[in-house]
Parts: sequence; C-alpha cells; structure tokens
Amino acid sequence: MRIITIDGPAGAGKSTVSKRLARLLNYTYLDTGAMYRAVAWAAKNSGISVEDDIGISELLENLELDIRDDTIIVNRRDISSLIRTPEMDRLSSAVSRLPAVRKYLTEMQKKIGNKGDIVAEGRDMGSVVFPNAEYKFFLTTSPEERARRRMKQIEEQGEKVSYEAILKQIIERDHADSSRSIAPLKVPEDCTVIDSTNLSVDNVLEKILIKIKK
Ligand code: C5P
Repeated sequence: MRIITIDGPAGAGKSTVSKRLARLLNYTYLDTGAMYRAVAWAAKNSGISVEDDIGISELLENLELDIRDDTIIVNRRDISSLIRTPEMDRLSSAVSRLPAVRKYLTEMQKKIGNKGDIVAEGRDMGSVVFPNAEYKFFLTTSPEERARRRMKQIEEQGEKVSYEAILKQIIERDHADSSRSIAPLKVPEDCTVIDSTNLSVDNVLEKILIKIKK
C-alpha cells in the first residue's frame, strides 16, 4: 500500500491539494479532518458535550462512520455539508483532544490505509498514524494569508465577516491544535515542508509531484 501524508494547519489549502493529488495518482483521498468533524456532529446531534469524555466514549461504541472521498455518513445519514460550519470548526477541534476519539479514529484510518493507496490529509498523518508513509508533506501558510483566503470564500457565499475576527479564530485553532497533549499538530521529522503563502495550488502540486517522481 502506498501512502502519502499531507499535514498542516487549518486553511493552508491541504484539501484542495490532497484531492487533486489523489485524483492525479488514482489514489483514495482520505480527509481525516472530516472524521473529527463527524464525531463532533454526532455528539452535538445526541446532545453530548464535547467535554464529556465518558459520554463521547459511549457514543463511539454505537457510531457507524463511513467516509468515501467527499462524502461522510454517520449512522446512515449523509452529513457531508453539515460538518462545514464555524460551529463544527470549533467542536471538532475540541473533540479531537479526547484520547478515546483519537484512538477510535486512528485505528479506523490505519485500516483504510491497509486497504489501498491513499493520500491522507490531517494534522498527525505523518507523525502518528502513518509514520512509515512513503512521502510526507507539511503545508504551511501564514495566518494572515489563510485569513484572507477564508474571508474570500465566505464573501463568495454572499456573507460578510471581519478580517480580524477570522484571523483571531485561525490563531486560536492553530494554538488549540498545536498545544494539545496527544498527537498535536507538528512538523514530522522526515517530511517536506512547503510554504504556500505565495504559491498557487498548481505550484504546490508541482512541488509535490517533483518530489514524488524523483
Ligand atoms: O482539517 P479540518 O479543519 O477539517 O479538521 C478539523 C479539526 O479536526 C482540526 O481543527 C483538528 O483539531 C482536528 N484534526 C485532528 N487530527 C487530524 C485531522 C483533524 O486533530 N488528523
């Protein structure tokens, strides 16, 4: 099985790059952030607080989670579009701190990796879940540029937000993801770091392909 990992902070363009890379190589795309979002959504839907580790552990016992590319199904319901909200940004980051959740999703991700070639995107793909991946990348972008990109996306949806508010949320989520005790967001030792602050998606893909073809 061939595994390529792409880690990095929120909003660095990992999803777009990972999806396109997977399509180009004919690999399966694995969006592990969507899995954390799905657990957060399931907790909210069952009225369980993301702080309640016992409640969440029980929830996991009966959770049916299925992920295929862009589609994520929880207990036979397609929740793909419901997990992309600012509330789920926050709740998924909170739920990802819980050891039971990390264990549950890490095992599931490893199983998926055992079945075929994948491009896995997340925060701990190269460091924890797939330490033996064939290629590891870490995508960074300055918080200011990520805030600008996010603001553009939101404005394109016809909504208004302040740049300062978005920048603050990004910095807070980076901090939460980097400072948690288990599997924090960090640059794996043996990975290629790509700073995409001044690069287009095409430029980033090109850099990855050059590395892979070598
Ligand atoms: O990538 P995305 O923004 O969808 O991830 C949502 C949240 O899930 C992140 O803020 C992070 O806390 C968590 N996450 C994680 N480990 C991963 C992927 C995502 O902890 N491998």
